[in-house]
Amino acid sequence: LAGSFPDGLDALLVTAPENVRYLSGFTGSNGSLLISRTGDATLATDGRYLIQAAQEAGQVECIEARAVGPALAARAAAAGHARIGFEPHAVTVALHGQLVDAATPATLVPAPRLVEALRVVKDAGELAALAAACQITDAAFDEVVLSARLGGTERELAFALSAAMRRLGAEADAFDPIVAFGPNSAIPHHSPTDRPLQTGDFLKTDFGARYAGYHADMTRTVVMGPAADWQRELYQAVHTIQADGRSAIAVGALPAELDAAARQAIQSAGHQAQHGLGHGVGLLIHEDPFLTPSGAEELAADMVVTVEPGIYLEGRGGVRIEDTVHVTADGGTVLTKTSRELVEI
Ligand code: ZN
Ligand code: ZN
Repeated sequence: LAGSFPDGLDALLVTAPENVRYLSGFTGSNGSLLISRTGDATLATDGRYLIQAAQEAGQVECIEARAVGPALAARAAAAGHARIGFEPHAVTVALHGQLVDAATPATLVPAPRLVEALRVVKDAGELAALAAACQITDAAFDEVVLSARLGGTERELAFALSAAMRRLGAEADAFDPIVAFGPNSAIPHHSPTDRPLQTGDFLKTDFGARYAGYHADMTRTVVMGPAADWQRELYQAVHTIQADGRSAIAVGALPAELDAAARQAIQSAGHQAQHGLGHGVGLLIHEDPFLTPSGAEELAADMVVTVEPGIYLEGRGGVRIEDTVHVTADGGTVLTKTSRELVEI
């Protein structure tokens, strides 16, 4: 964190679990981290996690507390820190009140997204974990989606994807799999139901594995049986927009411009974009940088982002194609390798 400490801050209280993990290695569900301007770090956690904290974050001093944030705020104040930064995006109003009380007479200062700014660029270990998560995701798609059968339900397919990913080495789902058949595929974030798979359905699935804390994110849309002309047309439109989006990924590219180009292309095809082009992935499934109209910071080498345009026709069906892409000096290296050609099962 050295070098990214804002002027006028004596210490930073880190409460977002993924940021605690990123800085210390500690993965328990109750932990906060205090970092001083000079680089001293103190982890707080409760009795359930003391052994785990010693194993995962042995290089960091650890104190035992149930209310981890207030305990560290009090400790920072006692150490003479006058201005203590906190993560406003990761503190509830209730916790903020407790922190203010515990830190008196020190002042709490909002210090938004300092650790997030470090997390956007991945190191070799993080890239390896992301690649492994994507590989498991590809393998699960091959095994489960390509052998989908008529009459099976969205929920059954979602469960089969989760089970296959665990068997292939995932520690968890990156998020609850989205599986959508027929008209349900027009709902961008559909929750799986008992609807059975029928001939002529689009089968859209958006899912990923979590591996060593890192998330994969992939969407494919296939057709059950021979594709109708309207399905082929819709698929081709999204396929082209997604391929263009992937090839525009480069060091120095502006997220807002990538998003605008995809939006424009969707409009030219006669439709309206219903979500952004993509997002960063890492210790969270959705993290900086966001490929949306507000994305003002240039892409840099070793960021990892998704490219996921979709077109959705209410009542009929929708197509989304999504890949997880590693930004490199040569452009984008796609980590999810499942074929993007139209598949008729
Ligand atoms: Zn996705
Ligand atoms: Zn996504």
